[in-house]
Amino acid sequence: MADYMRAMRLVEFGKPLQLQEVPIPRPRGPEVLVKVEGAGVCHSVVHFVDGRFGRIDVKALGLRIPVTPGHEIAGSVAAVGEGVVGFKEGDKVAVDPWIGDGTCHYCRIGEEQLCEHPIKIGENVDGGFAEYVLIPHYRYLYRLRNLNPVEASPLPCAGLTPYRALVRKAQVKPSEYVVVVGAGGGLGTMAVQIAKVMGAVMTPFLP
Ligand SMILES: [Zn+2]
Ligand SMILES: [Zn+2]
Repeated sequence: MADYMRAMRLVEFGKPLQLQEVPIPRPRGPEVLVKVEGAGVCHSVVHFVDGRFGRIDVKALGLRIPVTPGHEIAGSVAAVGEGVVGFKEGDKVAVDPWIGDGTCHYCRIGEEQLCEHPIKIGENVDGGFAEYVLIPHYRYLYRLRNLNPVEASPLPCAGLTPYRALVRKAQVKPSEYVVVVGAGGGLGTMAVQIAKVMGAVMTPFLP
C-alpha cells in the first residue's frame, strides 16, 4: 500500500475543501482501515464546512481543523489491526460514524450517538472524503452482503435516523397509519421505505 492518499480537507470554515495528500493511517489494535468506495454528502456536512449549525458556531465546539469531513462511509476493509476479530481484508462494510467516549451517561445506556464528548468520524477525526479512513474499532462496522457501497454509504446516517423513529420510538405495527413529514427529503424517502417494509399504511396526502 502507498504511504500517501488524496483527501478533501476542511482547512478554513466557509471556504471550499482543499485536495491534499496526507499519510495513510496504519491500523493498530482494534482499528480498521477502510478503503472508501462510497461517501455520502450529508446536509450537516454542508453546515459543518460553512462553520455554522444554525445558530451554533462550529468554532465554539472546539473542533480542530484541518480535518477530512464525511461521515456517510462504505467501502472495503483494506487493513486490520492485530486485535480485530471477524473482519478481514476485502470485506465490504458500511461505517457507524457516531462514536462516543464510552464513559458518559449516554454511552453507558447504549445511546452512544448522544455522547457528551463524541469522537464523530468526519468532524472530530478524519472522515470519508478520502481514499482511506481509519475506524477506531471494528464494532463500528456493518457487514454488507447484497448492497454495494455507494447505495449503503448513507444508511448509517440518513437511514438510521428514520429507522430509530419508526422502529424504536413509534414501534409501528402492520396496518397502522404513518405520516411522514417531508417525505420527499433525504430522510423522508428512507422513512417511506422503512414504513412500507414494516407494513404501515401509506396514503398520499396532497394539501
Ligand atoms: Zn449524515
Ligand atoms: Zn459518551
